[in-house]
Amino acid sequence: MVLDREQLEEIKRLLEYKAKELRSETKKKKRKKKDPHAVALAAEMEDIEHALKKLDEDRDRFGFCEKCFMEIPWGELVENPARRYCSRCSGR
Ligand SMILES: [Zn+2]
Repeated sequence: MVLDREQLEEIKRLLEYKAKELRSETKKKKRKKKDPHAVALAAEMEDIEHALKKLDEDRDRFGFCEKCFMEIPWGELVENPARRYCSRCSGR
């Protein structure tokens, strides 16, 4: 499946919304390097930025697993638009 324009726009909106949420949450915390919550937030932010970049630069490959190149089902993308891998590769 190659995502159509409308689906790509929806994913982009979801990602931007999440990024905004994460940014304000990160700001609230006094960030200590070892704080596991802060580390998780940073990792999530990185995934979101990666996904947004991919949407801009590599649209045709968006929605495919980065490991096995299988399609990621639309339902799973909507649930977590920043995911890089299919459910099998991410072990879920
Ligand atoms: Zn995979």
